[in-house]
Amino acid sequence: MHELIATEDDQDFDRDSKALSWSNPRQRAWIEVEPAAISENVRKLKTILREECLFLAVVKADGYGHGAQTVAQAALSGGADKLGVATLQEGIELRKKGLQCPILVLGNLFDQEELYACLYWNLIPTLSSIREVYICDAHADVKKKKFPVQIKVDTGMSRLGCNIEDLLTLVDLVDKSDYLELEGVYSHLALADNQFQYDIGSETYKQKKRFDSLLGSIRKKYKNCCFHLANSAGTFLGHDFHYDMVRVGLALYGYNPFPTPSKFQSLDLKPALSVKAKITLIREVPSGTGVSYGHKFQAHRLTRLAVVGIGYADGVSSLLSGKISGLCQGKLLPQVGSITMDMLMLDVTDHPDIEVGSVVTMLGREGDRFLTPLEWCNLSGSIPWEVLCGFKNRLPRLVV
Ligand SMILES: *Cc1c(COP(=O)(O)O)cnc(C)c1O
Repeated sequence: MHELIATEDDQDFDRDSKALSWSNPRQRAWIEVEPAAISENVRKLKTILREECLFLAVVKADGYGHGAQTVAQAALSGGADKLGVATLQEGIELRKKGLQCPILVLGNLFDQEELYACLYWNLIPTLSSIREVYICDAHADVKKKKFPVQIKVDTGMSRLGCNIEDLLTLVDLVDKSDYLELEGVYSHLALADNQFQYDIGSETYKQKKRFDSLLGSIRKKYKNCCFHLANSAGTFLGHDFHYDMVRVGLALYGYNPFPTPSKFQSLDLKPALSVKAKITLIREVPSGTGVSYGHKFQAHRLTRLAVVGIGYADGVSSLLSGKISGLCQGKLLPQVGSITMDMLMLDVTDHPDIEVGSVVTMLGREGDRFLTPLEWCNLSGSIPWEVLCGFKNRLPRLVV
C-alpha cells in the first residue's frame, strides 16, 4: 500500500515537471521554412544577371514571413551580396544576430536619433531629402567617421525619393561632406509586375529613361556608386534594368511577381515555405446543421467536421472562407464555413482515416502536391506579398 502511494507521487511529480517544461512548436499550427530553397533561388536568379551585377536580398517584414535571420543567412550563402530591410528595427535585429554584411534600410528615417542609430549600427540609410543629408552630415562630422549613404530619386512611383531635379543637389551635398560617402543612387519601379511592361512605350520604360538621364553625370564623378532600379519583376525585364545591382524580394522566396507565367517559369524557382496545422477535434453533425459564424455553410448530409487549429489571427484571411482546401495524407479537404480567429473547419466526411492529430498542409508541399499562396490571392483579391507577410508571430517558424 505504502509503495503504491509512493509510486503515484512519483508519477504525479513526473507529470508536473513535464507540464512545467512543456513546449512543442508543432502543437497546433506552424510554418516550415527550407533555407536550401532560398539559397538555390539566389543561385538561379544570379544566372540571369551579368557577372558584375550585385544581388541585394530583400528580407524586410521578417523575411516576407519566413523569418528574417533564416532567409538572410540562406540568401548570403546562396551568393547574395547585400540585404535590404524596411525598418531601422529590422536592421538592428539582424546586426544583433551577428550578420555583418552591408544592410540597406529601404524605408525612410526622418528623425535625428533614428538616423544616428542607423549609422551607429552600420546600416546604410536611404536619403530622400536635403534635411536628411544634413542630419547625417552633422553626425558624421561629430564622429569623424566615414558613413556610406544611398540617395533615392523618384522616377514615377511617387513614394520615397527626391524629385528628379533635386537629385544633383543632394549628390553635391553628400560630395561636400567630409565624411558621408555616396554608396548608391536608386529608384523604384511602380508597374514592373504588369504584363505589358515589356513594351518599350510602357510606364516602366519611361521610368527607366528618367533614371538613365540622371546617371551619366554622376557616374563620371563617382566610379564606385552603385545604381539600382529593379525589384523582382524588374529583374525579369532583362539586363537593361539591372544596372549595378538588383533588389529581389518575392522571387527570392520562389514566387512569380507577374500575373502570368512569363519569363519566370524557366528558372524553376522553389517556394521555401509551408504552413501546417493539426486537426484538434473531429465531430459528426447531422444533415441540415449550420457550421461556424453566420452559418454560411449548411451540412447537406451527415458530415464529419475536422476542427483545425489555425485561423485569421494566424494569417489565413477570413476572405478565403469556404474557398480553400487543406492537404492531408494526399487528400484535398474542402474548408467549410467562416474561417474564425483561431480555427477553421474542414469537411472530412469522405475520409474516415483522417483523425485527431493529423497534420494538414494549408500552403506548400505535401508529397507531390503543392498549394500556392498565388491561388489564395486569386480567391481573396490579395497579392502574394501580403499573403506571405500576413503570417503572424504566433506561428513558430521551423527550419527544415
Ligand atoms: C520591397 C522592395 C523591393 C522588393 O520587391 P519585390 O517585388 O518583392 O521583389 C525592392 N525594392 C524596394 C525599394 C522595396 O521596398
